Amino acid sequence: MNIILLGAPGSGKGTQAENIRERLNIPVISTGAILREAAAERTESGLKAKEYMDRGELVPDEIVIGVIKERIAKPDCEAGFILDGFPRTMAQAEYIDEAGVRIDLVIDIYVSDGKITERMGGRRMCPSCGATYHLRHRPSHRGDICGRCESRLIIRNDDKPEVVLDRLKIYHSQTMPVKDFYSKKGVLKTVEGQDELSETTRLTMETLEEFIASAKK
Ligand code: AMP
Repeated sequence: MNIILLGAPGSGKGTQAENIRERLNIPVISTGAILREAAAERTESGLKAKEYMDRGELVPDEIVIGVIKERIAKPDCEAGFILDGFPRTMAQAEYIDEAGVRIDLVIDIYVSDGKITERMGGRRMCPSCGATYHLRHRPSHRGDICGRCESRLIIRNDDKPEVVLDRLKIYHSQTMPVKDFYSKKGVLKTVEGQDELSETTRLTMETLEEFIASAKK
């Protein structure tokens, strides 16, 4: 089963992708995480990507498509995968389509812009191991220290308030057409992101189970 999670930055799609992974036992492919890793390793494309990411802009399609192409060709994707943060532009959606990759289900986590800006102020990341936290929704049990590797947590450059507003603008102009594209294909399901994470998780898993039941019929 190939699934896409759509949603504005900060909508919680990464967290829901992990919940779906636990249920279906297929890998989560997060282009953001792969690009951050490449930047930390200082590869050529990683360093180029970092310039865009730090400004809150989208990384050029050819870099991101290259990343996805390589990743979905790996053997662990044979039984399916969950895309978190891809596609974000029509060129990326068309690439997936033209490559003949079947998309079974697209879950869009809808959260208003006002709530997104409020939430993103609380996000923290570990610069060493990449673990993500949220002051309210997913705090580290060690405060501002990573519970996994003990490094001091940071705010990602692209989570800073001025950058968040730019990212939302880009989301509306570039990624909304992607939502329409999958809606027309009849594979889009929208989940309203709730204030309580557990409630968003319940609604997402309900959507997934309904889809699995209908696919079995
Ligand atoms: P994320 O972790 O999904 O919020 O992604 C962080 C940043 O990585 C984004 O703000 C973009 O700069 C870049 N990025 C991730 N996925 C994509 C994509 N599909 N297309 C372009 N840029 C991306």
